[in-house]
Amino acid sequence: MSETQNISMIENIKSIIRDVPDFPKKGIIFKDITPLLASPETFRETIRLIAGKYKGRGITKVLGIEARGFILAAPIAVELGAGLIPVRKKGKLPYKTVSAAYALEYGEDTLQIHEDALKNGEKVLIVDDVLATGGTASAVCRLVEQLGGKVESIAILIELEFLKGRDKLSGYELFSLIKY
Ligand code: AMP
Repeated sequence: MSETQNISMIENIKSIIRDVPDFPKKGIIFKDITPLLASPETFRETIRLIAGKYKGRGITKVLGIEARGFILAAPIAVELGAGLIPVRKKGKLPYKTVSAAYALEYGEDTLQIHEDALKNGEKVLIVDDVLATGGTASAVCRLVEQLGGKVESIAILIELEFLKGRDKLSGYELFSLIKY
């Protein structure tokens, strides 16, 4: 596809994402990607446009962040010929884990990864649907580094620029397909 076709496809993807006001609580505008996932062409093109950025970069593992990150990370991993690693909320993974705590609006939460998920020096792509404050993605960077992996890049479908999550991730490459 030409660059012009890619730009119009990105506009298409943006237009199909649904804003749900006051979910899960008042004041939050939830970016609902289910209409995008339900559209075969838009879903396929979303994966193609993200994975296309990373071909030939030696990425061997794609990390998906629970839960919507899994949906995007799995086909991206297949496209790149890489393995898929789930990063999950505390208590969900069955084997031995390492953990990273991160701040929420009120209080904190913990993400976990299997302790044998990465080999030393392995190149990792982190994938999630939305970047808001950046707390989640920066906790996942810490998990990768605790296991001796290298964060090659962070790929996000939707970046909420006004929340400045990118500032928490300085020092890492960050690509987002759609920005608000
Ligand atoms: P943060 O740690 O603040 O960057 O939040 C990112 C995580 O929360 C991602 O895993 C998103 O799936 C979710 N998230 C945050 N804000 C939104 C939003 N407005 N719409 C949908 N998901 C969101």
